[in-house]
Amino acid sequence: MKSPCVHITTYGCQMNQLDSELVAEVLRASGARLVADPQAADVLLFVTCSVRDHAENRVFSNIGKLAARKRREPHLVVGLLGCMAQEHGPAVRRRAPMIDLVCAPGRLAELPALIADARAGRKREALDPPRGQDAFAASDVALDGVEVGRPLCGNSPGQAYVVAMRGCDNFCSYCVVPFVRGPERSRPPVVILEEVRRLVGQGARQITLLGQAVNKYAAEEAGRRWDLADLLSKVAETPGLARLSFITSHPAAMTERLAQVFRDVPAVIPYLHMPAQSGSDTVLTRMNRGYTAAEYMERVAMVRALRPGLAVASDFIVGFPGESEADFEATCDLVRRARFSGAFVFKYSPRPGTAAAKRLADDVPDAEKRRRNNALLALVEEITGEENRKFIGRTVRVFVEEISPRPRAKKGSDPLSVQGSDPFFARGRQGDRLNVNPQLRGRTPCNRIVVFDGPPSLVGTEVDVEVVDASPLTLFATL
Ligand code: SAM
Ligand code: SF4
Repeated sequence: MKSPCVHITTYGCQMNQLDSELVAEVLRASGARLVADPQAADVLLFVTCSVRDHAENRVFSNIGKLAARKRREPHLVVGLLGCMAQEHGPAVRRRAPMIDLVCAPGRLAELPALIADARAGRKREALDPPRGQDAFAASDVALDGVEVGRPLCGNSPGQAYVVAMRGCDNFCSYCVVPFVRGPERSRPPVVILEEVRRLVGQGARQITLLGQAVNKYAAEEAGRRWDLADLLSKVAETPGLARLSFITSHPAAMTERLAQVFRDVPAVIPYLHMPAQSGSDTVLTRMNRGYTAAEYMERVAMVRALRPGLAVASDFIVGFPGESEADFEATCDLVRRARFSGAFVFKYSPRPGTAAAKRLADDVPDAEKRRRNNALLALVEEITGEENRKFIGRTVRVFVEEISPRPRAKKGSDPLSVQGSDPFFARGRQGDRLNVNPQLRGRTPCNRIVVFDGPPSLVGTEVDVEVVDASPLTLFATL
């Protein structure tokens, strides 16, 4: 049988983007060909997210659209990968019978065998055991053995993500992640350092360490204990590495030791993604977040005192069970005080199996969730607009990530939503079609998006630009 021709569609967070790169690598090594056009593929893989109902529905709807093609091309293989795979298991075929293979995030190394079976007519799944059973370690070792041939994050050469931790033990009451990605496991420092060295050797200049609560990183190697501060300090020594960041930090695990890294390690960019989720103490307790709004603000102040100009970004959930108007006001108040550089806002979505879905009635009507979502986004934009305007007239050093993936941005039409209620992005390129210098998109050290016209050869490098205008989401600059 000829080798498979595979197309991968990715939904969700950076962890999923990285999973897709891993899948691509595993399949390439097994002789498969990866194609950008789904119509040219005979294997369609979907790397999925199950954090919200909306995300799942999009996947089901897109897979549903394949029914006619599957009738025309009975040998077409459709695979469900990632968090939805682990969450639904084989039962997913009741809702989407055209799915041939189901593969959990920890079992991606088994994909070549799963695809071969599916092509031979055997529908299979590779799932992790439910939490509590100790079988994750073996699949982690299999994944660590896959050398992803980046640097390539999406379409941004020069940028690479590296997994520092897998899984999550926080059990925020609304969240499905601890169930679908398993218990917390920190990768050994030696594995991470080696991966960073390899990526930088291949051209990466900007590395982002990933983990659901990455500041809980804890490893032991050669009798020495490592926390995230140790790891960042060591990774920063990699020759050729220009920028280092880490996402996502949990406020309850933010220590002074880690905050000092922002002061002491120049390669660590002044950007902290530390989701608050709510500004109301009663809601935070019901969410099982482990801190109060005052404690959150204390931690922000602690880090900012050590690195002036530090940009802090957050996530919020509006319409959590029992969230009153006063609770929502407390969230708005926290946003006013924290002056975030960006925030994702999500409407609460009950996830089956979570404590909130089991015990708390989803009692905020959808129209009210939508109103709060829009009001909070408007407030965040007002503040980010004010903060961004302070950059006008300043020269900033920009790491150029890519040719702007959206139509040429003007003030008032932002190229990439960093605070919309939907962080997923589709990619297309405009510069390739133009005869003039395309619009380039990069980031300041504090992770603000900058667009400016320049030659594509600048992609993957750092340049100085002058900010001439600003909107809530974007700085507009000239070379
Ligand atoms: N581990 C990260 C953290 O703790 O911030 C992010 C995990 S989650 C993939 C990303 C965001 O999705 C969360 O910060 C939260 O705001 C949102 N989220 C998670 N579960 C949700 C739910 N059931 N409904 C709405 N938003 C949710
Ligand atoms: Fe989910 Fe909370 Fe873990 Fe983040 S820290 S992944 S929100 S359980």
